[in-house]
Amino acid sequence: MPAVVEIRSISKHFGEGAARVDALRDVSLDIHAGTVVGLRGPSGSGKSTLLNVIGCIIEANSGRMSLNGELVYDRKWLRRDLRRLRLEKIGFIFQAHNLLPFLNAWENVAVALVLAGASRHEAHKRAMELLTYLGVEKRSEAMPGQLSGGEAQRIAIARALANDPRIILADEPTAALDSQRAGTVMELLRKVAQEKQSAVIVVTHDEKIFDRFDQIYTLRDGALENPQTLAA
Ligand code: ADP
Ligand code: MG
Repeated sequence: MPAVVEIRSISKHFGEGAARVDALRDVSLDIHAGTVVGLRGPSGSGKSTLLNVIGCIIEANSGRMSLNGELVYDRKWLRRDLRRLRLEKIGFIFQAHNLLPFLNAWENVAVALVLAGASRHEAHKRAMELLTYLGVEKRSEAMPGQLSGGEAQRIAIARALANDPRIILADEPTAALDSQRAGTVMELLRKVAQEKQSAVIVVTHDEKIFDRFDQIYTLRDGALENPQTLAA
């Protein structure tokens, strides 16, 4: 079975000349359906850049990338509608959960559905299903400011799942949580990976969750310290 995320020799630099920073150097990686993969490394080692390249937010300088079996980048983007690609295939979860403060919990989830073309009625129904799946349906009418950190992060996960993406990208999702809530978030991400057969990639330097991953990769100065053995 092909990997959900297939990266080959991806490099990315910012700036030129003396100001040049090589954020990713020749990174190759396969991430399979149903797995939860951790990405760690010191600050500035390229973790967020790699996540943003996979999320089609940052364009690499060289290499190839396939998502869900579709070659989307080969030294340049091969798709013009990157926004649609992101909406349909990728779910993002961030540290600060960045829920929209003026929308309640279910509306925050519904936004992603409406952007993808759902009616308001459909979006409400699906948002409530997702909140139930994540065990926070009782908080559906709460505003973000009224939610605990753990609740807000579950709402953010529900939003990331809204369009049934096969790829879930999480940048430090447990950094603001105590170890019990961090554990709950990781359990939910594992449940999602298994039940939806998605590939979940979690950037973290949170040592208390290192035992929760199927594999952990370490970035140092933009290169993988423990590369996989990959077919060409
Ligand atoms: P991490 O997430 O591991 O802390 P990043 O991927 O954010 O690391 O950054 C990797 C390197 O690339 C760092 O040296 C950072 O300063 C640099 N970098 C990241 N984004 C930009 C940008 N938009 N412009 C210039 N340099 C950047
Ligand atoms: Mg980062």
